[in-house]
Amino acid sequence: MVVVMETGAVEPDIQGVIERLNHFGFDVHRSSGEQQIVLGAIGVKPGFDTRHISVLNGVAAVYRVTEPYKFASRAWKTENTVVQAGQHQVGGDALAIMAGPCSVESEEQIHACAELVAAQGATFLRGGAFKPRSSPYSFQGMGKEGLVMLREAADAHNLAVVTEVMEPAQLDLIAQYTDVFQIGARNMQNFSRLKEVGKTRIPVLLKRGMSATVKEWLMSAEYLLAEGNADVILCERGIRTFEDYTRNTLDLSAVPVVKAKSHLPIIVDPSHGTGIRNKVTPMARAAVAAGADGLMIEVHPDPDSAVSDGPQSLYFHQFETLMEQVRAIALVVGRS
Ligand code: PEP
Ligand code: MN
Repeated sequence: MVVVMETGAVEPDIQGVIERLNHFGFDVHRSSGEQQIVLGAIGVKPGFDTRHISVLNGVAAVYRVTEPYKFASRAWKTENTVVQAGQHQVGGDALAIMAGPCSVESEEQIHACAELVAAQGATFLRGGAFKPRSSPYSFQGMGKEGLVMLREAADAHNLAVVTEVMEPAQLDLIAQYTDVFQIGARNMQNFSRLKEVGKTRIPVLLKRGMSATVKEWLMSAEYLLAEGNADVILCERGIRTFEDYTRNTLDLSAVPVVKAKSHLPIIVDPSHGTGIRNKVTPMARAAVAAGADGLMIEVHPDPDSAVSDGPQSLYFHQFETLMEQVRAIALVVGRS
């Protein structure tokens, strides 16, 4: 941490800051320029609140040089993390494509999706059995029955399963059917939930909260990692902005930002990120071009009768086109 003192700061204030830094366990190196004193505070304290120092008399500015997260950082682990989920991987050379309906609705529906997505090269089947809906009157998911269908359909096509966990009480049940726990955008900062999921050894797909900065998102990943669950996959799914021609604003700059800051794999969900079917494929192409490790795509055999997120779900033929185009772009960026 670097503490810049105000021009002409008086000695008692400078000493006050040095004492306070020592009190928090930092070693202090003082350098004096022509007009300004700069204090270098040495010591890694990930959770340190810099306001302890910025409020002191004579302090002009405080800059962190280390990130507030540790296990999630590139500084901690330089090589990319590859998450093994079931028989498939996320973060390796091959793109990980996770696709399926928003919600599991019936055996026919989920089997049709599994057959299609596997034939097109996806390795994960997605589908919600417990749904976080903005309205309590909307379809809430099929629960256990949906999990059973999801697993059967995935197994029939050699796919891994990713499904959302909303309640810690559901963990044991869902663990029997899934390869990856999805933590949805609305729960990204549900810290007690993160701790519970972090205690398991099942890989986690952590969606970005709709108003979360990348730093806050990585701090949430830190909760999982700090509990010992090393298999964390990040998922950019759009954030809330003033723009209203799309459901959310898909922040693709998060991909290179995360890649620089963290060793964790990051995938992109252009379905929730745009909320509009004809915007999904262009943004899927862009996500892969930006360096994403994979995609999460909503697809449905009959989107017009889907119980949730129909308008952003692709028709099967659209998913085929998406995969064809994404494969071409993958080659350009050195992925398969
Ligand atoms: C979903 O994946 O179906 C979902 C609800 O996503 P999010 O948490 O990103 O809204
Ligand atoms: Mn959805």
